[in-house]
Amino acid sequence: MGCQFDAHDDCFSFDLWMRAFEACGVAPAAYADRERPADEAFPWDVIDVGVSKRFLWREYEKALAGQTTPDCLLGECPGCGLPRGETCHSLASAAPPATTTESAARVECPLPLSETEAVYRVRYSKTGRLVVVSHLDLIRLIDQVIRRAGLKSVLTQGYNPKPRRVFSDPVPVGVASRAELVDLHLYHQVEPVRLVDWLNRFVPEGLEFLGAARVEGGRPRLPSVIEAVRYRAELRTAKRPEVEALGERIKRTLKGESFPVECLSRKSGRRTRLDLAERLLAGDWTFDEAAERLRINLTWRVGPHLPGLGVRDVLQALWPGADEALDVLEKSEVYMDDRSEGRLRPVVLRAGD
Ligand code: SF4
Repeated sequence: MGCQFDAHDDCFSFDLWMRAFEACGVAPAAYADRERPADEAFPWDVIDVGVSKRFLWREYEKALAGQTTPDCLLGECPGCGLPRGETCHSLASAAPPATTTESAARVECPLPLSETEAVYRVRYSKTGRLVVVSHLDLIRLIDQVIRRAGLKSVLTQGYNPKPRRVFSDPVPVGVASRAELVDLHLYHQVEPVRLVDWLNRFVPEGLEFLGAARVEGGRPRLPSVIEAVRYRAELRTAKRPEVEALGERIKRTLKGESFPVECLSRKSGRRTRLDLAERLLAGDWTFDEAAERLRINLTWRVGPHLPGLGVRDVLQALWPGADEALDVLEKSEVYMDDRSEGRLRPVVLRAGD
C-alpha cells in the first residue's frame, strides 16, 4: 500500500490503513473496541521489556479508577518488575534515597538560583545502548535529567511552554557520538564544571555530559555554529589491496578529484548525488593487518545551507559493503569557525571550561 514512516504525523495515512484492513478482511473495531480479559494473550506479550504484565494490568485498573502511582524517581518503588539495581539502575539508582513525602523526595539542587538567565553550551556523549535512541527521545531524556537534577529551566513562550534548550544537528540512529551539543537556558549562575558534575549524577548509562562553557545569549547559535564534523569508523577486513585502493580514493578526493556519493533521505526516500570532493576536509586511515581492522577518520564540512551528507552513505561509497563490515561508527568531533584565526577549531568544552 506504500505506508512509510507511519510514526511521523506528516507521513501517516489513515486511508491507506483502512484500505489495508478492508483488503485483508479485518474489522479494526473488533480489535480496538472490545473488552480484553487480563488472561488474554496480547500480541505484544512476546516482547519482554522487563516490566511485568501484572504491574501493567494493575496500572490499567488504577487508571480506570482514577488513581495515580507516584513517580518512582521521586518516591518509593511500586515494583514494576525490573530488577532493582540492575535493569532499573540506569534511571532509579541516581535518585536520592526514597522517601514517602513528596516535598522531601524532591532533589535539593545545590546550584544557586539566579533571577537572570544563563546559557551553557554543553557537550555530551551518546554511546552504548543509547545509540538506538532517536533524537526526539534523547531530547525527552535530557529534559528528564534536568528535571531530576532540580534545575530551573527558562521556559519557551506559548500555549505549551517547554524548557528552553537548543540542540546541534543529531547523529543518525545507530551512530554513537562523543560530540553532541546542547545550549541549556537556566536560572542558575554557576561554574560550568559544577553544572556538568551535578548533571552527571542523574544520567542513565550511555549518556554523559563531557564539558560546558557559558555562551552569552546562546550566540553564536546552535546548530548553525557547527562548520564541520569528524566521524571515526572501524571495519573488519583483511583485504590489503582494497584498503590501499580506499586510501587512494581518499587522497584523490582530498586533492579535489570528484567523488560522487549517493545520499538517501530516510524520510522522503529521495536520492541526492553529492560530490564528496566539495566537502571533505581531512581523511586518514590505518590498517592493522594482524587484527584485520581498518580504522578511518573523515572530516567534512556541514552547515545550514549545505545538503545533508549521510555518514553511512559516504562509507558505503568509499568501501562498498561497509555496512556489513562496520564495528564502530562514531561522531568524534565537531568544529566551529574561529573567525579570529580564520580556521576551524574543535568545540572542546572540557568539564573545566
Ligand atoms: S524503582 Fe525501578 S523497579 Fe521500582 S518501579 Fe521504578 S523502575 Fe521499576
